[in-house]
Amino acid sequence: MARHIQYLFIVLLAFFSHGWTDELQMAMVPDPVIFTRADEIHLSEISSDKTRKMIFDMKEYATHLREEKQFSLIGLSAPEVGIDKRIILIDTAYNGDEKKLGPLKAYINPQIIWYSNEIEEDKECCLCVDQHISGVIVRSKHIKIIAFDALGRTICEELSGMPARAFQHAVDHLEGICFPERVHGQHNLHWVDEELFALYQTHWKTWPISCSWSVWLAMKLDMPYYYLLPQSYPVDLLLNFYDQ
Ligand SMILES: [Zn+2]
Repeated sequence: MARHIQYLFIVLLAFFSHGWTDELQMAMVPDPVIFTRADEIHLSEISSDKTRKMIFDMKEYATHLREEKQFSLIGLSAPEVGIDKRIILIDTAYNGDEKKLGPLKAYINPQIIWYSNEIEEDKECCLCVDQHISGVIVRSKHIKIIAFDALGRTICEELSGMPARAFQHAVDHLEGICFPERVHGQHNLHWVDEELFALYQTHWKTWPISCSWSVWLAMKLDMPYYYLLPQSYPVDLLLNFYDQ
């Protein structure tokens, strides 16, 4: 009997020490959940315990990514963590300061009902895609959205700047669209070696190392792509390139 109690104690200890992180994990291309339209949450289920648990788990996982993986996460969609439901989290207070990340607000069945004609381009990447790939994408600077919160109340908001971009990126995920498919022109799909990440932050607009569509296609089809990658450049060479 004592041995059974000891075993139970070990199991409980393992559960509490690992907790939710065992339940959710990042879906990576070519996981089909990333390329499939996510299901609506039925009206009768919006404020259910099941939906609340999904949101709780997503928020916990996002906190884990921010604190332990050091990602400046400002948006997360359910398909990115393997859930085929129309739920997204957005840091609506984000102002570009990566040291001041705010709370992530949950949006259920979100819809963008208005896009501004005013557009802007910025770089985007995605936790579901090889971290060396980045893309310059043009999106509306302001949007108006409607959604439900976890209590079933309607949310109507106007978002601008980076939160608006994160919202558009997350809603794309609900439609099974990943950011490389929003990139126009191969010169706007970039390959960034790890030692060049910092340089890319300031020079993404004129980045000279593009990533061919073949690489993205091979990733989607789960085919080898390393032989298709662009030549890697030493940091010094690129620094000289930007000094000129
Ligand atoms: Zn993404």
